[in-house]
Amino acid sequence: MLAEKVKKAIRDIPDYPKKGIIFKDITTLLNNGELFAEVVDYFANKYKDVDFVCGIESRGFIFGGAIAYAMKKGFVPLRKKGKLPYTTVSEKYALEYGFDEIEIHIDAFKNIKNPKVLLIDDLIATGGTAEAAVKLIQKVGGEVLAAGFLIELSFLDGVKKLENLGVKVDSILK
Ligand code: AMP
Repeated sequence: MLAEKVKKAIRDIPDYPKKGIIFKDITTLLNNGELFAEVVDYFANKYKDVDFVCGIESRGFIFGGAIAYAMKKGFVPLRKKGKLPYTTVSEKYALEYGFDEIEIHIDAFKNIKNPKVLLIDDLIATGGTAEAAVKLIQKVGGEVLAAGFLIELSFLDGVKKLENLGVKVDSILK
């Protein structure tokens, strides 16, 4: 099963980037070309109806870019504040201490009417980042058909935030 393979391929790094956090390191999975392709194909085969894949900086770019390529769909980056060169729309979200902000280009879906989007990141924890991402996509006219993650930290209930925005969550490993 794919979830089992993913579980074996990632590694836990305790107390990174700070004490008390168990960081899920996906670089060991990326190292395995067959499994990386299997993860990409899982999403690419399931969401053929979307017009765009949106990836959240920065690990969402690795998976999202590859998924968009496999589907021959456009890729839209959601970036940390100040990184996108053209006019942007931005959304703040709460962190454990303070706030962070992500942005999207105002014309990200310019050429398509009612664009349908697959949102991708490596991991959903509290859901704050993905919630901000969904709001941004909606602000510039996109409809998020699903949000796909390699890993979901279920005990943090992040999925609820997305479901409240009408977005289906699809995580390979819970
Ligand atoms: P959140 O907004 O709390 O859902 O956090 C999700 C974002 O933070 C994603 O972009 C993840 O890559 C990153 N993240 C949060 N917690 C972890 C963790 N335990 N291991 C690896 N990445 C994490």
